[in-house]
Amino acid sequence: MSFKSGRHFLQIPGPTNIPDRVLRAIDQPTVDHRGPDFAEFALGVLDRLKKVFKTTNPVIVYPSSGTGAWEAALVNTLSPGDKVLMFETGQFMYLWRDLANRMGLETIVEGDEWNTGVVIENAKATLEKDTNHEIKAVCMVHNETATGVVSDVEAMRKAMDEAGHPALLMVDTISSLGSMDYRHDEWRVDVTIAGSQKGLMLPAGLSFNAMSDKALEANKTAKMPRAYWDWQEMLKNNANGFFPYTPAANLMFGLDEAMDMLFEEGLDHVFARHQRLAEATRTAVQAWGMATVCSQGGIPSPSITAVEMPDGHDAEALRKIVLDRFDMSLGTGLARLNGKVFRIGHLGSFNELMLLGTLAGVEMGLQIAGVPHNKGGVNAAMTFLEDTDRAYSAQSAAE
Ligand SMILES: *Cc1c(COP(=O)(O)O)cnc(C)c1O
Repeated sequence: MSFKSGRHFLQIPGPTNIPDRVLRAIDQPTVDHRGPDFAEFALGVLDRLKKVFKTTNPVIVYPSSGTGAWEAALVNTLSPGDKVLMFETGQFMYLWRDLANRMGLETIVEGDEWNTGVVIENAKATLEKDTNHEIKAVCMVHNETATGVVSDVEAMRKAMDEAGHPALLMVDTISSLGSMDYRHDEWRVDVTIAGSQKGLMLPAGLSFNAMSDKALEANKTAKMPRAYWDWQEMLKNNANGFFPYTPAANLMFGLDEAMDMLFEEGLDHVFARHQRLAEATRTAVQAWGMATVCSQGGIPSPSITAVEMPDGHDAEALRKIVLDRFDMSLGTGLARLNGKVFRIGHLGSFNELMLLGTLAGVEMGLQIAGVPHNKGGVNAAMTFLEDTDRAYSAQSAAE
């Protein structure tokens, strides 16, 4: 590898940049995870986590990547052959569905929703038709990391209520928790799935399940085989600050510090920061004369923007130029979007100047790669940030 001066710009939509404070918190000697100090620490972390999910119920922490929490949600609440309603919103929804199929569930998949996110009316119609209530769970991804399109969880809850459908609602918040507003209890989500390496600013290696009383009730009769992911084993041990197996203690030290950071800034401010930087990103994209995947009407993501390449231009060639010349990693286009889009991650530990550096790297990359575009995207983003500065700093001061 050739020598690179300065710091690498990691602008993929997860894993995200880890703040120095979090790195230092992780850098601790090994502790006895069955000792009294760790138990006291773990009880504190588990309790504070509820504030991040906005729930009063327990939150389970697994030593795994986010995929493990997908599996945990399903095996703890469902039985073999159960029908599960899922949506074709992007690559992550596809992967969760594939996992569900391999676990022996029967998945029903709605439409083609890569540009729009979940079309709630269609989901509602499907639920209304299911008069025998054969669908046992509705599973959605809050923020599709592959497309940069958000699906409306609150609207889904409302649609399920209006359809009078008793299915469990399960939501993947792996790239939204800690970056955009999310309310597990208020939206009456039954299982929330999350991971450590995106908005929570940690390395990969922790995943989460938050649950409702209804999900805990379903857990009693759910027949899917489970061992490692068993909620009851976890809940029993967690009640005293312990785990049924070795917890990722050092990542939990990092989690504690990351939560300090989120609460010091204030969750509402964290969400406003993400919204504003995302809007600045879209302002630049528009000034370049380019489109995002959700330009056609989806709710744009506060944490990631997927930019479409003009026909005949390869996003992978652009990504290579940006990496080679400017030492910046942009997100690749996943599955059917490969080569057609590049993704800008703007989540986690991130601010205005990091965004402007990122956009400058993209704008120079477009020029060098010979991709047709208008100049001035970075300037447009700067103007947007200047124009919104007053309201934004007033909000910071108020908190
Ligand atoms: C990153 C991501 C995942 C995958 O999580 P892993 O930690 O890689 O297992 C799942 N869903 C969404 C929405 C993601 O962004």
